[in-house]
Amino acid sequence: MRSTSRVLILFVILLAVVPPLPLRAPAMIKTPAQAATAQVQAPPAGLKTTAESTEYAATSTYAEVMSYIRALQKLSPLVRLETICTSTEGKAVPLIVIGKPLPQDPLALRSDKRVAVYIQANIHAGEVEGKEASLMLARDILLDPKLPYLDKIVLLIAPVFNADGNDKMSPDNRRGQNGPEKAGVRQNGQNLDLNRDAMKQESPEMRGLVRNVLLRWDPLLFIDCHTTDGSYHEEPVTYSWPLCPNGDSSIIKYIRDRMLPAVNATLEKKYNTLSIPYGDPQDFQDLSKGWQTFSHQPRFMTNYIGLRNRLAILDENYNYADFKTRVLGCYNFLKAILDYCQTRADELTRLAADADQRTVQRGLAPREVDTFGLDIEVQALPEKVTVRGYEVEVTPREGSPFPQVKRTDRKKTYVMPYFADFVPKRTVRLPYAYLIPVFDEEIPAKLRGHGLAVERLTEPATLEVEAFRVKEVKGADRLYQGHRMNQVKGEYAVEKREFPKGTLVVRMAQPLANLAAYLLEPESDDGLLVWNAFDKYIASQWGRGFQTYPVYKLYTPQNLAADGLD
Ligand SMILES: [Zn+2]
Repeated sequence: MRSTSRVLILFVILLAVVPPLPLRAPAMIKTPAQAATAQVQAPPAGLKTTAESTEYAATSTYAEVMSYIRALQKLSPLVRLETICTSTEGKAVPLIVIGKPLPQDPLALRSDKRVAVYIQANIHAGEVEGKEASLMLARDILLDPKLPYLDKIVLLIAPVFNADGNDKMSPDNRRGQNGPEKAGVRQNGQNLDLNRDAMKQESPEMRGLVRNVLLRWDPLLFIDCHTTDGSYHEEPVTYSWPLCPNGDSSIIKYIRDRMLPAVNATLEKKYNTLSIPYGDPQDFQDLSKGWQTFSHQPRFMTNYIGLRNRLAILDENYNYADFKTRVLGCYNFLKAILDYCQTRADELTRLAADADQRTVQRGLAPREVDTFGLDIEVQALPEKVTVRGYEVEVTPREGSPFPQVKRTDRKKTYVMPYFADFVPKRTVRLPYAYLIPVFDEEIPAKLRGHGLAVERLTEPATLEVEAFRVKEVKGADRLYQGHRMNQVKGEYAVEKREFPKGTLVVRMAQPLANLAAYLLEPESDDGLLVWNAFDKYIASQWGRGFQTYPVYKLYTPQNLAADGLD
């Protein structure tokens, strides 16, 4: 039913249209699923998280997390504390390593059957239930005489990834969130959103994550814990998988079509917790259009991990559920994921190893059909999604394109298309190698920061390559994460060039080749060119116009005299 003054539509809202919310969200009606979730876990006596010891009124400060970790170490010899990085404001960002036994070093893991699983919480430091849930989980595993999971899994936990943001607690942060009383801020100590920094790597947290977690421990699975915004539904847990179609498709499909359906069946049956894929309505005025996920770009952590041929799961806990329900929902989700990894550790290891091998093989002699996708668009998956939502009331607001949206207590289940399948509309060929005749240290440092193998020519080489002649560069009007992101147009042209000694060479016969292409392809929507790393090279220093992008694509395999950088 619609009228000009008041429109009653069904259901949920897009974040973009949410008006400022009241200080506290209205008390939730406890659904059967949430009530059941809240009864699942009774904390054992002794060591308690801040959330537990305050009856879920508060969340842990950085100091409280650190003293909890020290208490865990007193509880068990199976706990080691490592440091991911020192934050901008000087905090050591902790990594908890739990193993039976603790591996002497990560290399020792290669010779046993265990896999490393990494749980990261608090990347957005107002979204805090992953911090509490992961600390509880560590304790409960260590206190259980059976030491569950540890025969197959080495557990890595970063409970407070954005440590600087965590301690800027205020009741004014995330005002629509249903508890705790105070939470931290989204940004890190540099005012950056860490979940947009995976490609440009400008924060100590992201650089430390790659160096001290991904390259050091090579976790097979990465779980990133967040809290939703905006949409109304009953399910306390929402989730996603790596979305970027330039990653290995077998990994994406495995997590999406096999692993997550099984994990979520366990979550419901064994842990009595409901879950749905992460999303918002495509159009809150016309709900038949469907449910839509976020974006495919690898600046988002879980998409980035997919580009590295590893598994990743995004956990987004439901903002309007009370804090205890959210913590326990997240706790149960983590356990359901570990249950899965425990029984299929070998299968997961093989999946990642096969993806690495396929990637290297492809790079040795790339074919016409080996392509990189551009102009990526989202389409609906074949399966519809079922969401236990609510009817909402929408009231137009004078002078604003955004109406006021209020949830009613009237429940309604919606079955609709789920827009979460990202497909390129255009492709370009993947090369044998990228050649970069650039001599400052910034570009190789960026590439090597991701763990890519980078070489330099030891003698000049004349090669037929494809160049990208830049015709137009537009920096965005709006500053974003400290950048005016570029939109670039140009033409491809085959040319023969002499590359001087010292030219950087990035070969595609390496496991991280999909990431290399995303960073270096001239038309990549999240590459180094977009993030301004090549600005000084593509702009003419005198006069008008633009220069050729200094990253050349070599298609034909060649013997190149080159040395690795150390
Ligand atoms: Zn978040």
